[in-house]
Amino acid sequence: MPRPQRAAAAKAKSKPIDFPESSEASSSDEAAKTKVVEHKSVQVRETITAKEKPNSSVTVTKLEKTVKTTVKLKPKAGVKRKAGEDNDNDSNSDNEGQKSTIQKKVRASTKKNPPTMIPAVARTVGMKMLVGAHVSMAKGVQNAITNSNNIGGNAFALFLKSQRKWASPDMKESDAVAFREACKESRFDPKRHILPHGSYLINLAQSDKEKAKQAYDCFIDDLKRCERLGIGLYNFHPGSTLGLPRSEALARIAAHLNRAHKETRFVKTVLENMAGQGNIIGANFEDLRDIIADVMDKDRVGVCLDTCHLFAAGHDIRTQASYDTVMANFDRIVGREYLVALHLNDSKAPLGSNRDLHQNIGVGFLGLEAFRVLMNDKKLEGLPMVLETPMKVESTWAEEIKLLESLVGTPGNDPDFLVKAAKLSAKGEEERKAAEAAEKKKAIKKAPKPRKKGGKKQSEESWEDGNTEDEAEHSCEH
Ligand SMILES: [Zn+2]
Ligand SMILES: [Zn+2]
Repeated sequence: MPRPQRAAAAKAKSKPIDFPESSEASSSDEAAKTKVVEHKSVQVRETITAKEKPNSSVTVTKLEKTVKTTVKLKPKAGVKRKAGEDNDNDSNSDNEGQKSTIQKKVRASTKKNPPTMIPAVARTVGMKMLVGAHVSMAKGVQNAITNSNNIGGNAFALFLKSQRKWASPDMKESDAVAFREACKESRFDPKRHILPHGSYLINLAQSDKEKAKQAYDCFIDDLKRCERLGIGLYNFHPGSTLGLPRSEALARIAAHLNRAHKETRFVKTVLENMAGQGNIIGANFEDLRDIIADVMDKDRVGVCLDTCHLFAAGHDIRTQASYDTVMANFDRIVGREYLVALHLNDSKAPLGSNRDLHQNIGVGFLGLEAFRVLMNDKKLEGLPMVLETPMKVESTWAEEIKLLESLVGTPGNDPDFLVKAAKLSAKGEEERKAAEAAEKKKAIKKAPKPRKKGGKKQSEESWEDGNTEDEAEHSCEH
């Protein structure tokens, strides 16, 4: 199941706390209702600050008090909603009984787990390694910048629209303007530091005419949104062959990119390496190379390397020596000039498992040493590095950003580093053991016969149905 994740914590004087779009699609009912109430609490807080003390800062105590007050309020239309806000709206329900149950549940859950309010974390100034996270843009793209600032990110990713719907309402021009202004204010270079993630539905390798059109329309819409926002990079999953010849599938992707480049002005289309095998495109560097080979405007195509996907696809980056080998292979096969971004994730699954399961930094099979090595690769300076790790509490990403930044210039034998690495590793030990056991079991089951056809088929249908529920994609839900 995709994990519900919550974006940055509240910054006292700033915009609302945001909730990533992915939680909308994946939350249980109860979680969804809790979210709605939290939305309201934030809006009530805004109302109070706007009416009583414009531009004033709000203390943590006051925020918590507001949340409690809000929870007791009956949902009613009087609470103004902003455009683009989630449409999971309990106030539209006409079932009073259900409403009161929901309110009770919400009250109980809020009492048990009061929303954590953490102060905003300052961005580290002067960093050449630009670490950030995939933040939410709910209620307006400009909020992504606030969310990134709140966790101290020097780069960030976002979805440009719902990642699970083919059609989304057009972006408001006022939001685009606000985004561009917020970029300037926060000193983000939207051409280089912001890496939107494409919809999961898009498979540019699709051979069916109608479905290919649908995928392309969604893709080009994303690219046009990028350009309206002044964003220079757009990251997407290459797709699936759907069981058809690989070379033809790769050529279809390149043809779509060529067309898209003609219909847009500057945004660079960035292919992401993938964890999966079989029909999934992009688990090996040769796929990426072959797509790029057919792209006419080489300045408009790039690659984003996801550390979890690399490892799951069999590229061992856990030590300096193995990292160097993998990157040398990348340089030789694809070319370092195409590397424009990274996704920083540890892996819940072992090397070569082909499973896309993100883990928190240092807790998974990669371990902190892998990230120490990476954070000291000077060739990666200036590239956006985006965390897509599980986030259970709001401070997780803020802490992970600072942790990664602390690794720059740290030697592998540094005593503090070794303690940190061991602590994080111990945290994930049980989960890793279980994952290893599961892999072994799977290997034994698989051994007598080749890969089951059924598994492949499900993956194909997932793409065709516009549903990425195949296991390989589970944790790439940011
Ligand atoms: Zn992933
Ligand atoms: Zn991705």
